[in-house]
Amino acid sequence: MAGDADVIVVGAGLAGLVAATEIADAGKRVIVIDQEGEQSLGGQAFWSLGGLFLVNSPAQRRLGIRDSYDLALQDWMGSAGFDRDEDLWPKRWAEAYVAFAADEKREWLRAMGHRIFPVVGWAERGGYDAMSHGNSVPRFHVSWGTGPGIVAPFERRARQAQASGRLTFRFRHRVDALTITGGSVDGVSGTILQPDSAERGESSSRKASGDFTLHAQAVIVASGGIGGNHDLVRQNWPKRLGEAPNNMISGVPDHVDGRMIGITEAAGARLINRDRMWHYVEGIRNWNPIWPRHGIRILPGPSSMWFDAKGQRLPSPLFPGSDTLGQLHYIMSTGYDYSWFVLTQSIIRKEFALSGSEQNPDLTGKNWLMTARRATNKGAPGPVEAFKTHGADFIVRDNLADLVTGMNALSGNDLLKTRDLRLQIEARDREIANPFTKDNQVMNIHNSRRYIGDRLIRTAKPHQILDPSHGPLIAVKLNILTRKTLGGFETDLDSRVFGSNGQIMPGLYAAGEAAGFGGGGMHGYRSLEGTFLGGCLFSGRSAGRAAAKAVG
Ligand SMILES: Cc1cc2nc3c(=O)[nH]c(=O)nc-3n(C[C@H](O)[C@H](O)[C@H](O)COP(=O)(O)OP(=O)(O)OC[C@H]3O[C@@H](n4cnc5c(N)ncnc54)[C@H](O)[C@@H]3O)c2cc1C
Repeated sequence: MAGDADVIVVGAGLAGLVAATEIADAGKRVIVIDQEGEQSLGGQAFWSLGGLFLVNSPAQRRLGIRDSYDLALQDWMGSAGFDRDEDLWPKRWAEAYVAFAADEKREWLRAMGHRIFPVVGWAERGGYDAMSHGNSVPRFHVSWGTGPGIVAPFERRARQAQASGRLTFRFRHRVDALTITGGSVDGVSGTILQPDSAERGESSSRKASGDFTLHAQAVIVASGGIGGNHDLVRQNWPKRLGEAPNNMISGVPDHVDGRMIGITEAAGARLINRDRMWHYVEGIRNWNPIWPRHGIRILPGPSSMWFDAKGQRLPSPLFPGSDTLGQLHYIMSTGYDYSWFVLTQSIIRKEFALSGSEQNPDLTGKNWLMTARRATNKGAPGPVEAFKTHGADFIVRDNLADLVTGMNALSGNDLLKTRDLRLQIEARDREIANPFTKDNQVMNIHNSRRYIGDRLIRTAKPHQILDPSHGPLIAVKLNILTRKTLGGFETDLDSRVFGSNGQIMPGLYAAGEAAGFGGGGMHGYRSLEGTFLGGCLFSGRSAGRAAAKAVG
């Protein structure tokens, strides 16, 4: 048999690992190539919170949540807003993916030893109507062990395949081109990078030590998105979200450089929906950074008051946790690329979670005792308190006037007036006295507390922001944080890539973020969250299975 392997997988992130393990398990030989060192195995997924979109799971049912494929599909389509000719395959992927999340996904993972934290989170709650954006019910299932907990089963399978000789890793190999013979993609060529002892997630050197060429009957591109490359993010920034922000922080390591996207496109692959992206508006600068411009996303509960740079409360329903892109659009329309949370110690204690495995040592370390303290502790979790103390974007004061002075000093202007903020906060505070209200955000808080998961660990008891017994007051300056690429290479349901001429490119497959998590953009415009890791699992699996079958 010609070739160095049956299949080559570019990228040892989650999508690449899933694809490679499926190929090896089908008895085929696979080479997994990554520009980073072995210490970065698992790519972004290692750093993730491990949140997974599951539909009608036992965990949901135990918490009294009634979910179904139909309800989830309604939510998905309302969020995706598919409206383009090239949405044909993305929409098919969306339907198939929701079916996977409602059926096979949980058991498939469970059989590999994956487990879930029992309190299901409620991300992207929308706030418009039943057919618009958002999750009607909580569906965000955090992996027990967070990101490492979702990587582990696939790393284990990969190591077994490696031991049996069916899988080979080539770390510090950077692909620079795809090779095509007789119209079929049949290999890759690139640069061997010098060994680098940089810790996982840190930037590694790009110094070359040689070249390589490898051949196989098929190549799967699983190289991730563009979120670490701010030039590319700006270049593809959609006008519908306003101007690209001047200041952005990075929610992903440097290796999410988008370079392989350009290389694959240059080989003839059809990239669609490149203007669809998923960036967060609740980014804070990491006081203890791992990668350049390292930012962390706050996963906010519903109670913080949200103000734009000039001190206007964000309009309904743009409350914390409702509609990421709606918030991004609004914030960019203010002419500034930041906004503010104003909250109390009682709110931060119960409602602030930070996205990232390293920010959740209790869940990542699978420590039940530490995790239980989320419900009982007087303070916020340790990593949140550390941000409150050391984070450049946090201001903590005993009274509003001092808080506003600190906020203006931090942004280097005097846009905020204590009088304006006080007026709005006091008005909101008057709405707290009754269990009913006309303030939509306060209604939203009452709604959250009807869900036991939120009442336990995600939503503070309603109280007045200016009540000193809930203090001190806290302001957090929120930056725009780059993260996910929603567009990608157009593929059929077997993850086979279409060429720019509309025909399948023989030998070429794409999976994970590079494929827009399937089909070239199965999320459409918006995500329901927890759908990215799941998209890597689903598209990685289909690419691996289809490629293994095709190579005979
Ligand atoms: C902090 C954080 C929290 C997150 N939380 C969640 C969550 O809770 N739920 C969720 O669903 N999603 C979450 N995500 C998103 C999710 O983790 C990613 O979208 C997903 O892991 C992407 O996987 P991938 O395999 O497609 O790409 P990657 O993980 O980016 O892997 C791609 C690999 O390809 C390699 N590569 C790239 N180009 C080349 C080249 N030319 N040659 C050789 N190798 C190359 C890279 O070095 C990298 O190792 C989070 C992400 C982060 C960073």
